[in-house]
Formats: sequence, structure tokens, C-alpha cells
Amino acid sequence: MIEVKDIHKSYKMGQNSLKVLKGINLNINEGELVAIMGSSGSGKSTLLNILGMLDEAETGEYILDGVLIKNLNETKAAHYRNKFLGFVFQSFNLINYKTAAENVALPLYYQKTNRKERQEKALAYLQKVGLGEWAGHLPSEMSGGQKQRVAIARALAAAPKVLLADEPTGALDTKTSYEVMDLIQQINDEGKTILIVTHEEDIANMCKRIVRLKDGVIIEDVKVEQVRAAQYVQ
Ligand code: ADP
Ligand code: MG
Repeated sequence: MIEVKDIHKSYKMGQNSLKVLKGINLNINEGELVAIMGSSGSGKSTLLNILGMLDEAETGEYILDGVLIKNLNETKAAHYRNKFLGFVFQSFNLINYKTAAENVALPLYYQKTNRKERQEKALAYLQKVGLGEWAGHLPSEMSGGQKQRVAIARALAAAPKVLLADEPTGALDTKTSYEVMDLIQQINDEGKTILIVTHEEDIANMCKRIVRLKDGVIIEDVKVEQVRAAQYVQ
């Protein structure tokens, strides 16, 4: 699904440049649940943004579902982004004046799905994340965990091949984090390929594989005996 070959990335800082990714090699197969682990500043978000086509590597190759992601014009890039990728962020990034259902329907609008189908699908995805009753509510009426579940429903609505989540539990308390991870594990059990950036060991242990970054290089890439989040959710 994802092939990354010797990716390098640096940020220009005035006269200087800061090397952030220093030769990343990574293959991710369909159906994997992978944590990208590392301390703050290790380059996790930079790598995820490149995988999410929100940013480009300077050198190296990124192949997503057989497509070489390089020098695409913005129209093509947007096309692949919408077709292949769903995003979840630490801060939820919901639209505050839109209801839960309207937020979930948004990617379908961009995919030119008709109104009736958008409404049906939005409700179905909200039910999937356990928020069927909350369709007409605004984000301001919901808890952090509920908002993140709306964001997950929105990311899934466009039927992406890969779900990318940057610190999805970063703004949540421990119990709510485990509830969100339980949902992420369920979605992965249904076959979705998922990548999660986290700096929390216990969150990473709920994934099937941990890729550990340090100072822009992968220092460890291991399969883990997956811990089920549900056992912590009471
Ligand atoms: P992580 O997500 O692991 O905390 P990041 O990928 O966000 O790490 O950042 C890695 C390094 O790159 C950090 O030192 C950060 O300050 C720097 N950095 C991130 N984004 C930018 C940017 N847009 N411009 C300049 N420096 C950046
Ligand atoms: Mg980050």
C-alpha cells in the first residue's frame, strides 16, 4: 500500500536548514495498524504529512497504492488525496458551525455525492462510531472523545484506502484515549490500513507494529503483541 524509499526532508531556517528526515525506508501493507513512535521533534508529523501528501520529500520516492507521488499538480494531488487518504488530527479539526452529520458529509460533498446519499452515509458512519443519536448536534455540545469519533467518521466517509492519524489521543484523557483506540482497532479489524503518530507507549502498544523514529531515522521497526484497548475501557 505504502512504499517509502530513502526519503529526506529538511526545513529552511533563514541561512540554515534543519535536517528532519534522514533516509526513511518503510513499507506498509494493506490491513496494517502501525504506530509511528518517537519523542517530540523526532520527525513524526513531517513523515506523516509526506505520507498524507500534505508535504513533499526533497529526495527519495513515495509510492502510494502503486502511484508514484512526485511533481503532481494540485488538481492531481487533490484527486489522489481524496481518493486514498483520510485524516484525523489531535485537535479534531471539526467545523464548529456545522452539525456532526454535516461534518461527516463534507468529504462526500467534495466527491460530488448527491445530497440524499450524503445524509444517509453520514448517519451510517456516525452510527458506526456510536454517535447515531448525535447527528444533529454541534461540536460545542460534544465531549472531546465524541468529537474525535465524529472526526474518525468523517475520515472514513470518503472510503479512503489509508487512515492517517496524528496524535489522535493527544487531547484526550486516558480512558477516552482507550475508547478511541478501541474504535481504531475495530476499524482496522474490518481491513482498513491505519497509521498513527503518537509519543505514548501504551497507545503504540495497541497497534500491530511500531516504527520508532529518533532524530529523523528509524531506529526500530517491530511487530507487537497487540494490546486490546477494550480491556481498559470500563
Ligand atoms: P514530531 O511530530 O515528531 O514532534 P515534527 O515532524 O513536527 O516532529 O518536527 C521535527 C522538527 O522539524 C522539529 O525540530 C520541528 O521544530 C521542525 N519543524 C517542523 N515543521 C517545521 C516547519 N514547517 N518549518 C521549520 N521547522 C519545522
Ligand atoms: Mg508531531
